[in-house]
Amino acid sequence: MTTSTTAGPRAAEPLLSLRDVTKTFPGGRRRTGAGAPVRAVDGVSLDVAAGETLGLVGESGCGKSTTGRMIVRLLEPTTGSITYDGRDIGHLGRRELKPLRRELQMVFQDPHSSLNPRQTVARIIADPLLVQGSPAAEARRRAAELMELVGLIPEHLDRFPHEFSGGQAQRIGIARSLATRPRLIVADEPVSALDVSVQAQIVNLMERLQRELGLAYLFIAHDLSVVKRVCDRVAVMYLGRIVEVGAKERVYAAPAHPYTRALLSAVPLPDPAAERARERIVLPGDPPSPATPPPGCTFHPRCPKAQEICRSEAPLLRVATAGEAREVACHFPETDPPPNGT
Ligand code: SF4
Repeated sequence: MTTSTTAGPRAAEPLLSLRDVTKTFPGGRRRTGAGAPVRAVDGVSLDVAAGETLGLVGESGCGKSTTGRMIVRLLEPTTGSITYDGRDIGHLGRRELKPLRRELQMVFQDPHSSLNPRQTVARIIADPLLVQGSPAAEARRRAAELMELVGLIPEHLDRFPHEFSGGQAQRIGIARSLATRPRLIVADEPVSALDVSVQAQIVNLMERLQRELGLAYLFIAHDLSVVKRVCDRVAVMYLGRIVEVGAKERVYAAPAHPYTRALLSAVPLPDPAAERARERIVLPGDPPSPATPPPGCTFHPRCPKAQEICRSEAPLLRVATAGEAREVACHFPETDPPPNGT
């Protein structure tokens, strides 16, 4: 499916633009190639401006990580365009990608499993620089600088990842991502493997680095409380498609897509009285398989508002209310805030 543009306050020219991006994987039985192909990402369009944070949220398996991996070109899109700084990077070859990797970096969910246990921290952080051809001494100097920048002790450069806690290991992952002075970081669930108290520290660190270095983030998460705190805009994905995107304040105060409304109804409210009064929207069943998506609006089998047209006609992502910095893919978008808050 093709979605239209994205919404929200942005710079005139986005740093990153995805247009109608799809990613299809071969069928389930990989060895034989049999089974229906899986369209993990199905026509995603989104923009990220320089220096902003776009949150990408949705249930596990909705295609948000695949989208992130295509942006940093760990995966090649099947169709559609990915434009970074005015250049289509979606189908660049390995040699052309090399200089680009300086600018686009990724932070992964599980810090310990994403760091090579046999390498020292110095090597781990310096590796992107060595790959780009920096002399070893210069790369080590930069690694020490980065240790300090992310709140670690430079004298610990020769330690191994297992000698650090989960939060410290994530700081190492962030330091590594910063080695080549990128402009955009795709952070894929960067705090979900950490304790709650450590999560706050890593979020603080990411916010500080953004202010100091002017970074843009695509912040992928399923925890909407964290996203609310760190993001300027939010995009909600369901079964490979963006179903709602817009300014954070608007989406959180008055979610327009029934799926966004259900997700937000599960986020605990700080006020206990409001929390008791609030009605949770429990969706029936699990998301369908992307190998066999339902016709029409793919959310219709679980949607409390589904009507006949929803079963046959896929809604386009469009501005639901004139002049509003938010787009919704729904034939019957909500226009009022939820009765008891989100
Ligand atoms: Fe629900 Fe229909 Fe809107 Fe889809 S288009 S979210 S089924 S109301």
